[in-house]
Amino acid sequence: MSEVSSDLHGRYRGRLAPSPTGLLHLGHARTFWIAAQRALQSHGTLILRNEDLDSERCRPEFVRAMYKDLRWLGIQWAEGPDCGGPYAPYMQSKRRDFYFQAWRKLLDHRSIYPCTCSRRDVAQAATAPNNDGDDEPRYPGTCRQRCDRGPFDSPAGINWRFRVPDGESVCFVDRRLGTKTYVAGEDFGDFLVWRRDDVPAYQLAVVVDDAVMRITEVVRGEDLLKSTARQVLLYRALGLPIPQFYHCELLRDDAGTRLAKRHDALSIRHLREKGLSPEEVLQQAHVSL
Ligand code: GLU
Repeated sequence: MSEVSSDLHGRYRGRLAPSPTGLLHLGHARTFWIAAQRALQSHGTLILRNEDLDSERCRPEFVRAMYKDLRWLGIQWAEGPDCGGPYAPYMQSKRRDFYFQAWRKLLDHRSIYPCTCSRRDVAQAATAPNNDGDDEPRYPGTCRQRCDRGPFDSPAGINWRFRVPDGESVCFVDRRLGTKTYVAGEDFGDFLVWRRDDVPAYQLAVVVDDAVMRITEVVRGEDLLKSTARQVLLYRALGLPIPQFYHCELLRDDAGTRLAKRHDALSIRHLREKGLSPEEVLQQAHVSL
C-alpha cells in the first residue's frame, strides 16, 4: 500500500460516506472495504457519515440496512451517527449550519451566483453526452452574467452555482492513479452548491464535512474523479486544507455497466440472504482479504 496521509497530529482519518437511497451493493462493499483497510493499515480512525441530505430519496430503512450490512461485512468505525464522536452530528441532514456558513463565504467572495435554469434547460443545452460516468451535464453559463439580485440572506428558493475558472487545469494526485488533471469549463462547468429546494448540493456538503471532520484521505469510486476536481476548487475557494485522494476501480456487471443501487440482486443484503458468507461477498467484490 502506498504511504497514506495523516493529520497535524500524525493520525490518519478516513471515512465511509454512504447515501441511504437504496441497499448497498457489491460496489459499495468494495469501496468501503478498501477504505476500512487503508485506515486499519495506517492505525488510523475510520468514521461513518450518513449522507442523507436528499430527503426525497433517503429512507430510514436504508439507514438501518447500511449499518447492519457494513457490520456484517466486518467493517468497524470509531465515530458515526450510531456511536457519536468529536465531530458529531455525523448525519448531513443535521449539519446545515456548517454548509450555510460555507455558502455565505462563497457568496461574499463572489465565487457563486444564483441560477434560474431548470435541470431540463441544462440537459438540453449540454453540448455532448457524458460517457465517463460523471452525472452532471456541463452548465452552459446562461445565468453567469446576470445582475446580482441580492442581498441574499438565505440560499433557499433558487439554485446556486460555483463559477469555475474557465481554462484552468485542476490537478490532484490520486494515490492509485497518479496525477489527474481536468480543465475547468471543459471537463466540467459551473456546478451546483445549493439547490432551489433548499438542499445543499453534494459537492459543497462533502467538502465542508471532510474538512471539518479532519479527514486526511478520501477513498471513493473512480466515477467521482471529476467531482474531486470540482471539490479541489471548493477547498481552495473556502481556504480549507485539501485531503489526499484514493479512487477505487469500479465493479461492473456482466454487461460492463457500473453497479448502481438498482442492481438489487447484487445488494449485500440479497447475497447474505442467499446464504453467502461475508468472505464470499468480499471475494465477489474483488477485494483482497
Ligand atoms: N454519498 C456519496 C455517495 O454515496 C459519497 C461520495 C464520496 O464523496 O465518497 O456517492
